[in-house]
Amino acid sequence: MHSTNVASAVFDAVRLETKAVPCFVPAGVFDAFGWCESDWLQWQCPTGTFREDTPIDGSDPARMVFVFHAPCEFLPRELAKLHAFGYGFDDEWALAPYAIDEATDELFERAVSPRSLLRLAADNLNALFWGLHDWVHFHNHGPFEEVAWTELQCDFTALHWLARNRSRVGISERRFGALVQEVDELAAERFASALRDRPLQREAARQQRQLIRNIESVN
Ligand SMILES: [Zn+2]
Repeated sequence: MHSTNVASAVFDAVRLETKAVPCFVPAGVFDAFGWCESDWLQWQCPTGTFREDTPIDGSDPARMVFVFHAPCEFLPRELAKLHAFGYGFDDEWALAPYAIDEATDELFERAVSPRSLLRLAADNLNALFWGLHDWVHFHNHGPFEEVAWTELQCDFTALHWLARNRSRVGISERRFGALVQEVDELAAERFASALRDRPLQREAARQQRQLIRNIESVN
């Protein structure tokens, strides 16, 4: 971890380990799983401000944005300072928050490594979880037709990365345990509506969700 001075603010820049996790969802959910192998993500947070008490309830993440650190002509952008506060951002550009799906498609189609363009600014656990979830989308392309399965893979991978980086981020063991439950409840809700008429898949989903419940913080 190192601190960076930008204008009046100081933020921490942390390299989070984001090594690829194998695909465990049915074939066809992704059409190009791991087209770009993920390895690490540069995460930024104003020093001493990270909050772990924000619940993961499926609402749009506040105070989270992917900041461009290289020019990008093909993705919608907004000023980073509209979405991320306390970093001293001025005229830095960020991926427009509504363009996550577009980025997932465009990065894949142009074979541009997400890390060559983007870093993540997030100052709370809800924001960081969804940032990591989106980082999974950026490296694993799919048609997004089996939404519940796609999201399960992204949720599980994001949790796995948080577990690996828990002490680096500063998440308590207790909060991590509660986070796992919150994420599993979201997954259960998605499957309940998506697989209402598909009992076999419902059973498969129930078994795969066990992966989420079994995830443990490793440090
Ligand atoms: Zn998603």
